[in-house]
Amino acid sequence: MVSRVIPVDPFDLVVFGGTGDLARRKILPALYQRFCAGQVPDDAQIIGAARSDLNDDGYRKLAADALVEFGKADDPGAADVHAFLARLRYVQLDARGDAGWPELRDLLPEDRVRAFYLSVAPSLFGDLAERIRGHGLATDQARVVVEKPFGHDLASARALNRSLADHFDESQIYRIDHYLGKETVQNLMAIRFGNLLFEPLWNSRYVDHIQITVAETVGVGGRGEYYDRAGAMRDMVQNHMMQLLCLIAMEPPARFQPDEVRDEKLKVIRALKDVGLQDVVRGQYAAFARDGADHPSYRDAVGDAASTTESYVAIKAEIENWRWIGTPFYLRTGKRLMARSSVIEVVFKDTPYSIFGADAGDNANVLSIRLQPNEGITLEVTIKEPGPGGMRLINVPLDMSFSTALGEREPVPDAYERLIMDVIRGNQTLFMRGDEVEAAWAWTDPIIDGWEDRGDRPEPYDGDSAGPTAAEKLIANDGRVWRAIRP
Ligand code: NAD
Repeated sequence: MVSRVIPVDPFDLVVFGGTGDLARRKILPALYQRFCAGQVPDDAQIIGAARSDLNDDGYRKLAADALVEFGKADDPGAADVHAFLARLRYVQLDARGDAGWPELRDLLPEDRVRAFYLSVAPSLFGDLAERIRGHGLATDQARVVVEKPFGHDLASARALNRSLADHFDESQIYRIDHYLGKETVQNLMAIRFGNLLFEPLWNSRYVDHIQITVAETVGVGGRGEYYDRAGAMRDMVQNHMMQLLCLIAMEPPARFQPDEVRDEKLKVIRALKDVGLQDVVRGQYAAFARDGADHPSYRDAVGDAASTTESYVAIKAEIENWRWIGTPFYLRTGKRLMARSSVIEVVFKDTPYSIFGADAGDNANVLSIRLQPNEGITLEVTIKEPGPGGMRLINVPLDMSFSTALGEREPVPDAYERLIMDVIRGNQTLFMRGDEVEAAWAWTDPIIDGWEDRGDRPEPYDGDSAGPTAAEKLIANDGRVWRAIRP
């Protein structure tokens, strides 16, 4: 099956921080893939801008190495790599100085889309926005793209929003949460709003509770320094998991248009009840051995024997609106867990009355939407256990793996490929609006402040496990259990 490639008009994309890790690992490979798919028009330009003393050829060499290192090209001399590299230019500049900016301006034709990707530390966003405007580069067709983390708390997110809003209209600002660029995350909207089947049941009358799990087997790896300042709450919950929560819980937007969708997501965040300390569990992974290899504890991995940062968090969240009041959303995410799995599980209520009697057992229907790995949907339905002995009920899965159902297809584009092309097309649907980000921080800040004030150490948990025991209690207090974490 051939995927549809929607052509775009010629554009200029300036990657500030174009020599950095994100540019080499994600942005340049994504652009190369789109180039190979025929979506980068002939006279489009990709301009790396950073402090390193490079010329165009030096930058092309850096880009070629990145394509090989990150698995997008085997042969840096191949014709399509060569053709892609010819689109690249480089400008040496400092976000905090004025040298280099006139050269950048001279490279940019006036009357077409220009996107400025700020792939630099957030502390430079304001300087860059000011210089883009000050050097006359902020045309009507200009867009800025910024990366997570968008702030460390509400105050810093507000400051970042202001520093961008001083120079750009909200319609020109694209805040990336790469989770929203994932095919399976967008599919949540298709599943909910493309099927009549689910909507009548999608409320607290029929849904007992919802679990959202983002489990990783990896530890903090090379991101220890950053991660130890952030923790699972800032790194995962405030952005990715809240986006999943919004997509699952929001009202149907009137149209699939950027502000219609973002308005509905914002309403969900604003309806979230404040979380008490009894409804949050934090964990930190201990040292353990897996497959004969020893793995360091979280504290050893980040090099701080007294770190109180969480590598796991579980939260009971409640949405105070007509649809969801009485249906808790249990969120959990952690590193070094027993399996890698991102899944949303909608657990329906029991039938109102069992005609088969109490001994038959009751089994609630569960709709699982697997985001990764093995993307797909499973609906657990109740049937009679085969064999003699009367009516005993068991659950069996109606299981649909998307890869099996859809058959051989072209590889799905990486989230960055989709998001960068959406920036060029001017479609903000999959980007977070400023008020959405602030509302998310306004919900998570008091939770974080609560544990920071108390100076608690997160509960240690075994690697290869489902997380800390306190998380089991969190949900058991409500008479419920976590679903198994399965790969
Ligand atoms: P990095 O340190 O590898 O690269 C930073 C880049 O900024 C380099 O090109 C450097 O030359 C440039 N730079 C630094 N100071 C500058 C200045 N004064 N003027 C002009 N250029 C300057 O960082 P990174 O990992 O590529 O991250 C970039 C941004 O993306 C950060 O905000 C980070 O939080 C975010 N991010 C990164 C990743 C990732 O996987 N690396 C993932 C998500 C978000």
